[in-house]
Amino acid sequence: MDSTTLGELFQAWDEVREEYRTSRDDGYDRTVLDCAARLADDPGGESAYIWTFGLVVMSPYVTWLPGEGVVDATTAALAATDRALRDRPCDHASHPYESHDGEDDMNLTERLSELADDQVEWHEDRPREEWGCPRNVAGFARIALDVVEPGSVTDVPPRLPAEAQEAIQTLSALLHGYPKPWTDIDDEIASQGWSLSRAEPADRAGHLLVVRAVTWYAVSGMVRTKSVLDDLVEAVEKTLPHFAGASCAHTWHATLPDSGPEAAEVGVILSSPGGRGVYERDRAESGRGAPLEHVVCPVFMAEVAEKTLSLLRARREALFGDRDTSHVDAEYLRADGRLDIEKIVQRLEPRSWNEEYADDLSLWAARRYEEADGRERAVLLVTAYQAAENSYPSPPLPVVRGILKTMRAVAAAPRPQECAHDDEHPKLRYAEFRYGMAHFYAPEEFPPVETDRSPESWTCPRFAGTVAEQCVSSLAGLYEDESEDGGEDGSEGVSP
Ligand SMILES: [Zn+2]
Ligand SMILES: [Zn+2]
Ligand SMILES: [Zn+2]
Repeated sequence: MDSTTLGELFQAWDEVREEYRTSRDDGYDRTVLDCAARLADDPGGESAYIWTFGLVVMSPYVTWLPGEGVVDATTAALAATDRALRDRPCDHASHPYESHDGEDDMNLTERLSELADDQVEWHEDRPREEWGCPRNVAGFARIALDVVEPGSVTDVPPRLPAEAQEAIQTLSALLHGYPKPWTDIDDEIASQGWSLSRAEPADRAGHLLVVRAVTWYAVSGMVRTKSVLDDLVEAVEKTLPHFAGASCAHTWHATLPDSGPEAAEVGVILSSPGGRGVYERDRAESGRGAPLEHVVCPVFMAEVAEKTLSLLRARREALFGDRDTSHVDAEYLRADGRLDIEKIVQRLEPRSWNEEYADDLSLWAARRYEEADGRERAVLLVTAYQAAENSYPSPPLPVVRGILKTMRAVAAAPRPQECAHDDEHPKLRYAEFRYGMAHFYAPEEFPPVETDRSPESWTCPRFAGTVAEQCVSSLAGLYEDESEDGGEDGSEGVSP
């Protein structure tokens, strides 16, 4: 075979391996089919090693989105090669395929160039004869079969399925807060629940660990679709009985990673036989990490499932359930029944330490607004708006509904054509706001400031209308199901 042609072939194979995820190319199918056809022509022949290694190099693509017939042609040729070569006699104690893993795929064409030409210097640790041995070629044929159909052969080194490698990358990006542009966040998280529900018994623990990892993200407030949490809850509920009632003799169980990306990675690895094989091999090689049975033990998994479920339920209630604000009175009303204006203005400052008060304060003010009058009413409207702005990442659904109910009514109320005061409306920022609102509400307790607005400016219906409109525009559309018992125009809401 002439070496220019071979060199071009190897390059084409590497291109398929490197590019298939990012660019769809019909040429890839032809490249794989051609390679498989050459192998099928003479599966036990002199050149079988070339085509077998070629299919190993391109096998991840065959698991991706190949055209019709590619998978069948590939597996048929590889299986024929394995049958033809696996029992050929040889004197080797072992063969390179036995320690070949996914990361070594990138060096295979280089190895091929050296193997195909006796004149070229040999760079590998293992001798050329072991690489070219028919039994080694049969081993590589099985490796490619295992990539294309995980678990379909034995006597191959463990390998993480291509699908699992994808999943780790997708989840890692998402849980680090930088999802891939094509990731649908709600779908990606909910689908971890569906995968858990459908998992084979041996894969269940791994899938549960993935759900545990995505749960932290799902309950953080970043997910604004209740059904995502419902799906996770349902999946864990259905899983619990599989682990319940188990017993074990372990004196300890593994310590699980507590960062989302790492926890998800461990879960994905343990979700397939190949991944569990990789876990055991890495543990044996490094001497680190808990034995597999101390991780996937059903007693331990029942504990993990219980904890995950109670976190999901509690946070689902906090994020989407009805919100009681009666306890907030004690926080912001004084014994004489007046607003504790000093505390309120402090809590409205846009500081990270005020985020924890924002949701309750905003909803409480919006609800109380309806009963209030005079200066208190003006203060409560501004408070509801400002506190909602402080909420991070954004107020949960029941809070948004309550605030919008008030704000939409205020925005819709008739307003005079012109203001009844000569000065500007209050600015909702900085010291001007902080001291200005305190002085407006309780002039006898708080000294005036230079930038004070007139009381008529604070209570002006045109000012109220503007504040309400700003609030509506920042909250409407955060939730798809916001309009269930909220305002009128919520139906246009979109997912984040
Ligand atoms: Zn051999
Ligand atoms: Zn145990
Ligand atoms: Zn006005």
